[in-house]
Amino acid sequence: MQLKVLNAHAIKLTGFSEMQSSGLNNQRVRQLNRQTVMKLVWQHKLLSKSQFSQHTGLSIPAVSNILEELVNDGKLSHSSENLSKRGINSGSYQIPPDGDFILCMNVTPTSIESQLCDAQLSPNGEFERMQVNASTPQALLAAIENIWRNQCKTWPKKTINLALGIHGQVDPVTGVSQTMPQAPWREPVEIKYLLEEKLGVSVRLDNDCVMLALAEKWQNPASRQDFCVINVDYGIGSSFVINGQIYRGSLYGSGQIGHTIVNPDGIACDCGRYGCLETVASLSALKKQARIWLKSQPYSSKLDPETLTSMQLIAAWHDGNEQVRRWVDNSANAIGLSLYNFLNILNINQIWFYGRSCGFGDEWLATIDRQIGFTPFDHGDVLKNKATQINFGPLNRTQQVMGIGYLYVESMLEKE
Ligand SMILES: [Zn+2]
Repeated sequence: MQLKVLNAHAIKLTGFSEMQSSGLNNQRVRQLNRQTVMKLVWQHKLLSKSQFSQHTGLSIPAVSNILEELVNDGKLSHSSENLSKRGINSGSYQIPPDGDFILCMNVTPTSIESQLCDAQLSPNGEFERMQVNASTPQALLAAIENIWRNQCKTWPKKTINLALGIHGQVDPVTGVSQTMPQAPWREPVEIKYLLEEKLGVSVRLDNDCVMLALAEKWQNPASRQDFCVINVDYGIGSSFVINGQIYRGSLYGSGQIGHTIVNPDGIACDCGRYGCLETVASLSALKKQARIWLKSQPYSSKLDPETLTSMQLIAAWHDGNEQVRRWVDNSANAIGLSLYNFLNILNINQIWFYGRSCGFGDEWLATIDRQIGFTPFDHGDVLKNKATQINFGPLNRTQQVMGIGYLYVESMLEKE
C-alpha cells in the first residue's frame, strides 16, 4: 500500500538499483517522501499543500501527513499566508525563517565575492566583490574573517555560518585547500579547521566548480539529473552531477577536464605533465600565448603585452584580430575534443559553460559544439530528446556564489 505514495521525484533521489538491491520498506519510503518534500521547499521557498501535491504526485492526505510530521520536527514552519488567490486557505509551508544565516563566498587569492543568505537560502543584502591580493594564506583567511565580521556587526543576534567556494583543489571532507594555482604559496591550508577555531561557527567548503554545479542543480529548473558544468576562466575546471548527485572523483572533482592531455608534445602544465587542455585553452594560457607573440612584433598593435587583460583579449576576438581568432578557435576546438571524450565515457548530455571565457560568445560555443557533434553514438531521431545540450549557464553571479550554500542543504537532506 505504502509503495503507491512513492513518486518519480522520490525515485530520482536514490535510483532504481539501490532500491532493487535493498528492497523498499515503509520506513525507507517515508524517508524518501520527507526528502522529496524538503527538497521542494528548498527549491521553491514557499509552497501550499496543493502545490506539494502537484509537484510530488502524492495525494493531499499523504502530503498532509508528511507536512505535519516535518512541522512537528521543526524542519518546516506553517504560515497562514495564502498562496492561492481563490480557493480554501490552507496556508503555506517554508523553512523556519529564524534559523542561522549562511554567508556564501567565492574565494580566490586575488578576490572574494560574497552574498549573505537567510535561513531559507534567499539573498539578504547586497552582493559584494572585494579585491584581496593575498600574499600569504594568513592574509586570505584574515580577509574572509573581515567580511564575516562586518556581516556580524549588521546582524549581532544572528549566527552566521560560512560556505566557501574555493579556487583550486579542495578536500571537502577535511576542509583543506590542497593547492590554489593562482596563489603565491604552495602549501595546503586547513581553511575549515582554522576558521572554525577562530570564529566559532560552522564552515563548509568545496571547489568553485562544485559551487557552480550546486547552483545549477538547485536554482536552474532546466538542469537535468545528469549534467556537467565547465568553468573556463583562469584555468579550466569541471564538475559533474550524475543521478542528481555531485560526482567527486580524483583531483577532488575539479580538475578532470582541465588536465586531459590534448597535445602530448605540448607545453608543461602546473600539474607536471605536458599538453593539458589548460595549457591550450584557459584564459591564462591564451594571454601567455598573446604576450609572447606581441613581444616579437614591432610595437604597432593596440595591445600592450605587459598589461594585456582578459577583457582586452575578448575584445580583440570580437574585433576580428586574426592572431587572437586563430588561438581562440584552436582553444575552442581543444575544449570540444576533450568534452567529446568525456561525454562518450560518462553519457552526460547537458553542459553548462561558466567563467569569463563565455565572453567569447556564441561563435566560440558553436566551435565547441561542432567538435562534440561528431559523436558517433548520437543517432539523431532515436535520441532526439536526449540530444546533447550545450549552453552558457543562465545563472547570474549572485546565484552562482549562493550555490555553495547548498552544501548545508545537501548535508541536512542526507540526515533526513
Ligand atoms: Zn595539467
